[in-house]
Amino acid sequence: ALTLTAISKKFGGLVAVDDLDLVVEPGALVSLLGPSGCGKTTTLRMVAGFETPDSGQIRIAGEDVTRQPPNRRGLGMVFQSYSLFPHRTVAENVAFGLRMAGASKQTQSDEVRRMLDMVHLTGREDMFPAQLSGGQQQRVALARALVVNPRVLLLDEPLGALDKALREQMQFEIREMQQRLEITTLLVTHDQEEAMSMSDQIAVMHGGRILQLGAPNQIYDRPETAFVATFLGTSN
Ligand code: ATP
Repeated sequence: ALTLTAISKKFGGLVAVDDLDLVVEPGALVSLLGPSGCGKTTTLRMVAGFETPDSGQIRIAGEDVTRQPPNRRGLGMVFQSYSLFPHRTVAENVAFGLRMAGASKQTQSDEVRRMLDMVHLTGREDMFPAQLSGGQQQRVALARALVVNPRVLLLDEPLGALDKALREQMQFEIREMQQRLEITTLLVTHDQEEAMSMSDQIAVMHGGRILQLGAPNQIYDRPETAFVATFLGTSN
């Protein structure tokens, strides 16, 4: 599990994340959903290790990673603008983490083939990112994130740059793969349909706190606060 316990983060006088608790059970996908500025990205960046919490603890599979550097946490990440290496081929991009870990050439090419097959990009090994569509680039980014068998996958608005039709298709594909691999995943989005269609649980955030946590239908059918109801465009 990914466990956040009483996490807080201030920037100057501004409380970005306020005493937040969250558990993502093994193999589950939990979305942080909320308007701009509610603290979603800051929360994810603390899990990633790009920000250190002022207080609180982050654990992955029971291990305290709160002060570990990002590359020691066993994470895979896909961000909206997590650019691929432009001068490296698709295969080189996907192999990057394996190469860093010292995997053999044979292992690298076997794993790259396996991952590209999984994201439906077989045959594009030698292309460069600029030769791919936005959706294909995000599939490469996903393959690159997953090839190292991360303990936790972090997705920050991974489909934000794509048009609506492609976004819906990719939501389905990512969710399908996440469930197949049973990978513990934290997704940040401001798009309620994305959260609804992809999540086991949704944490609706406001002002650095989680206002409500529950399964998508539960959040949608039984919003517990006026803010959640309004944000979801429903009323009780
Ligand atoms: P968005 O969807 O716009 O990315 P968010 O919900 O992810 O919003 P955060 O990016 O976590 O929100 O920001 C939470 C608050 O913290 C905001 O008020 C933001 O301005 C502030 N903030 C975030 N990062 C920093 C920083 N490095 N320095 C100062 N303030 C910051």
